[in-house]
Amino acid sequence: MTMKTFHNTVNGQPVASPSSFESMNPATGEALGLVPQSTPEQVAAAVAAARAAQGPWAARPDAERKALVMKAAEAIAANADYLADWVTREQGKPLGGVGPGQVPGARFELWGCQAWTQVAASLDLPTEVAFEDETRRDEIQRKPYGVIGAIAPWNWPLLIAIWQMMPSIRAGNTVVIKPSEYTSIGTLELVRVIAEVLPPGVINTISGSGAVGSQLVENPGVDKIMFTGSGSTGARITAAAAKNLTPTTMELGGNDAAIVLPDADPKAIAMDLFWGAFLNMGQTCAAAKRLYVPESLHDALVAELKAIAEAMPMGNGLDAGIAMGPIQNRMQFDKVSRLVDEARAGGATIVCGGKPQGGPGYFYPLTLVTDIADGASLVDEEQFGPVLPVIRYRDLEDAIANANRLDVGLGASVWSPDPAKARAVAERLQAGTVWINQHGMVHPMVPFGGSKRSGWGVEFGIEGLKAVTHPRVISMKK
Ligand code: NAD
Repeated sequence: MTMKTFHNTVNGQPVASPSSFESMNPATGEALGLVPQSTPEQVAAAVAAARAAQGPWAARPDAERKALVMKAAEAIAANADYLADWVTREQGKPLGGVGPGQVPGARFELWGCQAWTQVAASLDLPTEVAFEDETRRDEIQRKPYGVIGAIAPWNWPLLIAIWQMMPSIRAGNTVVIKPSEYTSIGTLELVRVIAEVLPPGVINTISGSGAVGSQLVENPGVDKIMFTGSGSTGARITAAAAKNLTPTTMELGGNDAAIVLPDADPKAIAMDLFWGAFLNMGQTCAAAKRLYVPESLHDALVAELKAIAEAMPMGNGLDAGIAMGPIQNRMQFDKVSRLVDEARAGGATIVCGGKPQGGPGYFYPLTLVTDIADGASLVDEEQFGPVLPVIRYRDLEDAIANANRLDVGLGASVWSPDPAKARAVAERLQAGTVWINQHGMVHPMVPFGGSKRSGWGVEFGIEGLKAVTHPRVISMKK
C-alpha cells in the first residue's frame, strides 16, 4: 500500500516537497503518512508569501477580517470529525467527547479549536486615549507586527496552533507555522481546511524538524515569533531571534504544584485533581505535576486517586470507551520510565502503575508515587507524562516554599472549600496562573502564560491580542 503524502499549504496552494518523513501512530507504531521536510527555499517562500499577503490583509476593513476568522471557525467545525481522527491517530489521545462525563480527548481539542477561533473573531482592540488635556491628545492604536512565525509542540498540536494563529490573523498579521515533527499531519490538514476560506498567504505551513523551525526564526522577514515548547528549545530560539532583534512570546515548560489544604475533602476534590494531573496522559504544559498533601489527608486522597486511575481504560484512542492513550513518542516514554525508575530506586512507593506496558505503542500506565520528597528527579524535572508524585507535608509553609522552589512557574493550584484560605495561599504562589479547586482550566477570554522560566508574554483574550500587536501612538497638539 502506498502511503498518503501530505503537503504544506503556501499561498493557499498545496506544495510538494522534495524530501519527506513518516509520521507515526504512537498507539500502534504504524506509519500514517509522509509529511514534508521543508527545504530552506520553501521556508523562505512561505515567509515571502505571508509577507506579500500581510499588507492587503491588514488593510481590509476590520469587520471583514472578523467575518473571515469566523468562517475559519465554521470550517473547523465542518471538518472536526476528520481532524479529530487525525489527532487521535497521530497524537494518541482518545477521540473522547465534549461535555460533562465525556473523556476530554481529540474531539474536545477540536471543540477548543473552534471556540478559541470564535473568541478571536469576536474580540476587538479599541483605540485608547492615553492622555488628553487642552494642549494635546494621545491615542494608542494597536498595529499588527506583520509576519508571525509560529512553532508548535506535539501535546495539543491543533489547539496550540490555533492559539498561535487565530489572534495573530485577527489582528492583521499573517502566519507561517511549523508544527512539531511528531504531529505534522493534523496541523497540515487543519491549515489546509482553514486556508480554503481565507485569502491566499494569510496562513502558511512548513513542516519539518527543528532545523526548519530555526530557519523560520532566522528569517529576517519574520516580525515576531510565537513559540510553545520546551525551555531548552526556547533558549535556542531566543538566542537566534536576538540576531534580528525579533520579538518573541515564549510558552515554555512547567512543573506545576497543587497544594491541598487540610480542610479539603479528598472525595470531593479527587476527580478534578485527577484530570488536572492526567489530562492527555499528563502531557499538558499546565498539568499538576507535584501534589502536596497534608499528612492527615494523604492516605485517603491517594486511595481516591488510585481508584480513579485504575478505572481509566487505556488503549488505542480510536477504540470506543478508551480514556487514556499512549505517551506520544519514544523520547517522552523513555524519560517517564527513567524518572519513575529513579524514584523507585530512591525508595519511593509506587502506588499504581510504574512499569511500561508491552508494545506495540508507547503505553505507560497511570502512575501514583508516594514516599517521595522534593529534590527527587521525578519531582524536580519536568516529567510531562502520566505520573503524579504525592508529597506529604506537615507545615503548610513548607509546602508553599517547596511549590515555589523550582525555576519554572507556569501554573499552580490550591484546593480548599474555604475561598479566603485558598486565596491567601494562592497569593503566595509564583506562577502565571493559580487555580483554586481546579487545575489547568484555561479559557479563551483569560490570559495564559508563564512566570519565571516558564516563559514570557501571554496568549488568549485581549492581552493575547495585544501580544501580537505593537502600540502606535498618535500624538496631536491642540
Ligand atoms: P520542543 O521544544 O522539543 O519542540 C517544540 C517545537 O520546536 C517543535 O516544533 C520543534 O520541531 C521545534 N524546534 C526544535 N528545535 C528548534 C530550533 N532550534 N529552532 C526552532 N524550532 C525548534 O517541545 P515539545 O517536546 O514538542 O513539547 C513539549 C514541551 O512544550 C514541554 O516542555 C511543555 O511543557 C511545553 N509546552 C508549553 C506550553 C505552554 O503554553 N507554556 C504548552 C504546551 C507545551
